[in-house]
This record gives sequence, structure tokens and C-alpha cells, in this order.
Amino acid sequence: MNGAASGALLSVRDLAVTFDTYGRTAQVLDGVSLDVPARRHVALVGESGCGKSVTMRAIMGLLREPPARVTAGEIIFEGHDLLRLKPRARMGLCGTAMSMVFQDPMTSLNPVFTIGDQMRAILAHADRRLGRRRSRAERHARIIAVLGQVRMPDPERIARAWPIMLSGGMRQRVLIAMALLNEPRLLIADEPGTALDVTTQAQILRLLRELVQARGLALLMITHNLGVVREAADYVHVMYAGAVVEAAPAAALFAAPRHPYTRALLDCVPMLSGGGRFRGIDGAPPDYTSPPPGCRFAPRCAAAMPRCRTAPPAFPVGPDHRAACWLVEAA
Ligand code: SF4
Repeated sequence: MNGAASGALLSVRDLAVTFDTYGRTAQVLDGVSLDVPARRHVALVGESGCGKSVTMRAIMGLLREPPARVTAGEIIFEGHDLLRLKPRARMGLCGTAMSMVFQDPMTSLNPVFTIGDQMRAILAHADRRLGRRRSRAERHARIIAVLGQVRMPDPERIARAWPIMLSGGMRQRVLIAMALLNEPRLLIADEPGTALDVTTQAQILRLLRELVQARGLALLMITHNLGVVREAADYVHVMYAGAVVEAAPAAALFAAPRHPYTRALLDCVPMLSGGGRFRGIDGAPPDYTSPPPGCRFAPRCAAAMPRCRTAPPAFPVGPDHRAACWLVEAA
């Protein structure tokens, strides 16, 4: 899957983001590239702090600038480079053609407004941006329809409820409904259901997958859970320390991971057949204000060579299964 050549709905190219903090600059994203084709499900996976959420926020235009700064790259959505659009035009796409399912159902809703009021505000905002005329009754009908589609029992009652009256699973369904309100073509889901118990999380993920498939939407799912990736993704990008280090179709990645970091991540998944034992990854991600000059994974990589510590391996362009590693390049 290679960018514009593949006809991707969303194509991120060499995205770099820094954060200015206490007189120092942290290079939090360092050349992130990824593609999301229409109607495909793509996962962005990596451990906490690797830059997944910053990537998603940069795509949605939700980075707080300052302290963040996008210093390089392109974010092409349906042929428009979002980074070069006027703010009004960009806002016209985000929340409508592309929208997001937020991570934490307990804090992402405003506690002082009913669910219906919050959904009405989203619709009204989008209608204004798109120059769409819709009556209050039409907006209400749309809200009730979408609450029904996320399988909320008694949508009329839910629309009148305040967030505190709903369980965590119901709030997560409301967040999904909010993301679907304006019929997006791309849905970005940030760790969906991670704040919930495992049974409810499984139900939420199944619902999300069904809704996305039924509508033919593209899905970019951000997660650290490889079990979720294995079940739900067609294609996977693995991130480490601010860059994509491996990209592959999901089946190929799980069958034969090429990057040492991906292999280490997979070793962290407990397998019942192995007596439930699993290994961690020794060491910690680098300090983003002074990352190592070569491969950022070198200090934790058992296969590191002298060259790894001085020159960063490039992320190759072209083939479907790619890894940024000198070992792979030499193979
Ligand atoms: Fe390990 Fe070197 Fe490959 Fe980096 S480039 S992952 S240090 S072998």
C-alpha cells in the first residue's frame, strides 16, 4: 500500500511533529508515513508513548499548537493536503468526512448536557459548516436513528439522559454514535473500549467492526492490543519512538514479523499454549529530546550492529511488507 499510487483515502507522508517543553524540543514524530485505503481497516500499533495518539491528533487537527509544531510532511485526505488547507476548509472535513471515536467514555462526554443536546450540537455545527439546512425535528430523527444503529435500547430515553445516568459501555456506544452522525468516510478510533472491562470491550469492538463494514467505511484504529489488531485489521503499521518501523498486511505481519521491535511486541502477548508466560521488552523508549543518532530501537535491540548506532535505517517505499531495519535491508 503505497500512498497516492494505491489510491489511499488517507495518506500521511513523512510527518514530523515537535513539542517545545521547558526550553527543550522533543521530536515526537519523526517521519511517520501511513496509508488508509477506502473501505479498509488499518491498525496503528505500538507501546504507550510511541506517538500513535499524536499521529491521530495531527490528522484530525487536534494538536495544541503551541507546544506542538508540525514541522514537515503531508496529510492527504481525498486529494487535499490537510496541512495546507485554510482552517475553515479543514474544519469542514474533520468531524464530517472524517471523524473520531474518542478513547475514554467516562471523560469524553460533557456531564452538564444531555446526550441529545450534545449530539444536536455536533449536527448543528456540521450543518453550518456544510451549508446544510435541517429542521430541529430532522436533527432529532437523525439522532434517534443513529442511537438505534449503535444498539442503544430506547434511544428516545437515552437522548434525554445525562452521561452520568449511563454505564461505561453505553457511553462508548454514544461516542460511536456521535462519530457516525455526519456519515464520515473515514473513522479514526483511538484505543476503543480500553477503559472498559474485557467483555464490554469485546462487544464494543464487534459493534464498531459491524458498523464500519455495513457502511463501507475506512477505519484507522489506534491500539496497543495485538489481539484486537489480529481480529480487526486488514493492514498494520507498527510504531516505535515516533516512526513507523514496520508495515504489512495483518496476516503477513503475524506470520513473519520482520522488525526486531515487532517480534519483541509479539513476544509480549501471553499465549495459553505457552503456560501463560510472556516476555517484556528490556529497557525503555528513548528520550525524545535527545534520541540516539542511529536506529531509535538500537539501545533495546539484541541484534543491533555498530552501523545501527550511527545511521538510522530508512523506511522503504514500495513493497507491501516493509520494515525500517538494517538487518531486513541486508537480507
Ligand atoms: Fe535492531 Fe539495527 Fe534493526 Fe534497529 S536497525 S532494529 S538496531 S537490527
